[in-house]
Amino acid sequence: MRLRYLLLALAFCSFQNKPTPVEKKSVSAPKNIILLIGDGMGLTQVTAGMYANGNKLNLERFPNTGLMKTHSSSHLVTDSAAGATAFSCGCKTYNGAIGVTKAKKPCVTILEQAKKNGLATGLVVTSSITHATPAAFIAHVNSRVEMEDIATYFLQTDLDFFVGGGLQYFNQRKKDQRNLYTELEAKGYFMSNFQKTKLSEITPSPNQPFGWFSAIGEPDSVSGGRDYLPLAARMATDFLKNRTEKGFFLMLEGSQIDWGCHANNGPRAVAEMLDFDAAVGAVLRFAEADGNTLVIVTADHETGGLTLEQGEGFEILDYDFTTGHHTASMVPVFAFGPGAEQFGGIMDNTDIYWKMARLWGWVEEQVGKLPSKKD
Ligand code: MG
Ligand code: ZN
Repeated sequence: MRLRYLLLALAFCSFQNKPTPVEKKSVSAPKNIILLIGDGMGLTQVTAGMYANGNKLNLERFPNTGLMKTHSSSHLVTDSAAGATAFSCGCKTYNGAIGVTKAKKPCVTILEQAKKNGLATGLVVTSSITHATPAAFIAHVNSRVEMEDIATYFLQTDLDFFVGGGLQYFNQRKKDQRNLYTELEAKGYFMSNFQKTKLSEITPSPNQPFGWFSAIGEPDSVSGGRDYLPLAARMATDFLKNRTEKGFFLMLEGSQIDWGCHANNGPRAVAEMLDFDAAVGAVLRFAEADGNTLVIVTADHETGGLTLEQGEGFEILDYDFTTGHHTASMVPVFAFGPGAEQFGGIMDNTDIYWKMARLWGWVEEQVGKLPSKKD
């Protein structure tokens, strides 16, 4: 009954939007899809990172680029919860929504579909693993602030690999006496955390699901909890490739580009941008060697209304922020690998979901029939 409920919810949400059709004849379906999200990464954040890095980024190696509209159902300026739900479910929803439609009905996520179809799944982030962006791929709650509720979904969906902060939402819970960390161990996970072992000292076995926590709360550069993203990208791809023959879905987020921009701190935003770009490079190297992996890089929204002004001399940038909040600017989309040609032009954030689901042939399976263009 629950599945039927979810299918109806997805059908409902799909009729709200008008996913653009994919030309089937020329499309080759990727075995693996890796979605990389730079939270708050507008075009200017990319530009700032590029010039601060000697005029080069791994992002420049992508053959296909597009632009994306980011508004939510409730606001011109989205938050990360609605932005990530657009990617995970294909639904425009209200700011704060985690994996639910604007009518607060749960919507099936691409990660849940991947699991149901026998693929391996992974989430790698530099925020809490329960933060809005990763949460929207695995959880269904009405508000992003319900971190402990979000954590319970890690016991419901058999996620194969995860790395991120937020240990406290698993083992120091205020709402109930559960210890989700030990529950995950009892379920068969190899669990570890920054207090026990560095990520670099672990070689996870693909025979066992894996989870590692980088911080009690939000990872920060002072505690040393922020140096793992490119490493985790390499570990996740190697692990997931060997987990099953069927392929995998991985979402990896550079979570803190957004936080540097909220703080109107240009150098911090650039450092986060370059950390994310290094992870993009690691993923690209995997995809180039694998040959059967679609890599999509985009952002949920721009943050800070960043402008780059002439500083002293050619190489010194002057960072000018117009707000401490997100903005409605379109953001870039980069794609590499089988199906990458689908990601050109101007698209909506919900199209990221629909293009992935169509490439994998999961639209009909979930909805029963495609929404017509008139809906
Ligand atoms: Mg985020
Ligand atoms: Zn933000």
